[in-house]
Amino acid sequence: MSVVLNAPWITRQTTELLAQRGHAWLLQGPSGLGQYELALALASAWLCEKPTEQGACGECPSCHAIAVRTHADLAVLMPETQMMELGWPLSEKAQADIDDKKRKPSKEIRVEAMRDAVEFSQRTDARGRGKAVLVFPAERMNTVTANALLKTLEEPPGDVRFVLATEASHLLLPTIRSRCLAHTMKWPLADEAMTWLKAQGVPDAVAQALLRSAGGRPTDVLRQAESGLSPDWWAALPKAMLQGDARHLADLSPAQAIDALQKLCHDLVLRQAGADPRFFEASQLPTSKASVTVLTDWFKRLMLSARSAEHPFNAGLMLEALTADAQQTLRTQG
Ligand SMILES: [Zn+2]
Repeated sequence: MSVVLNAPWITRQTTELLAQRGHAWLLQGPSGLGQYELALALASAWLCEKPTEQGACGECPSCHAIAVRTHADLAVLMPETQMMELGWPLSEKAQADIDDKKRKPSKEIRVEAMRDAVEFSQRTDARGRGKAVLVFPAERMNTVTANALLKTLEEPPGDVRFVLATEASHLLLPTIRSRCLAHTMKWPLADEAMTWLKAQGVPDAVAQALLRSAGGRPTDVLRQAESGLSPDWWAALPKAMLQGDARHLADLSPAQAIDALQKLCHDLVLRQAGADPRFFEASQLPTSKASVTVLTDWFKRLMLSARSAEHPFNAGLMLEALTADAQQTLRTQG
């Protein structure tokens, strides 16, 4: 089971949500605050045989079944890429198709998976504690998939509960949003994130530097630390962009690269406004004369690129184009 379940700010929110009745929750807020972890904590508590006010016991057969990803009363709906990353098994058919190279793992929640989940929600539960459907990230449903879910949300079979987690709730169908109770993710207290990251084995100095680059969002830091992006790498990013060195981005997906460049852009705007940078140390920022207008235009181009970053025509070319654009922007005089 994900260690994030034990994070104090997740436990606080689990307690808060368990105290309320609701058959469908929508957890929303920026990435990195533990949406998925809270969703899993909530679903685990619903299915647990000895739940406390704080959540699942972590020891009963139900909790064990979730830990090993084989709970018969929990349906997890995610893009296949995400399922694989988080260690959830795919359906036999989906796994066979991917193994036979008939298609690539999907980056969206597939309508076939949603149909299975709808069927699941109509079956009798196996363990007598009801059933749970977890959807993450919920914005990865297309219209067809979302409508299939909507029908079930509107007329839920008695014993099934839903938890949807999203980092972009504005991309959800309004009808989906209106069928759920919304919960906005809470931030960890200042030293909680540090203490927690330390407990996950992230060294102090790394945690401190990465927390800054991740804007204080601890689960983003953990993923960043795990993917090997070091504070040194982060510190060197602005100068690498000034020099047009695309190799510096080589280990990133286009989406990660865009996120990093947006943070750089954000800090340069802050500096122009005479404020302290948020993601970088002031000394790490390049000397650049780019005006706020030029930087704002750059930010808009990055947002546009983000739309196609999920399906880049060629990831390498996209990283080169992003670097070239960054270099040109940073070198603009005024
Ligand atoms: Zn339990």
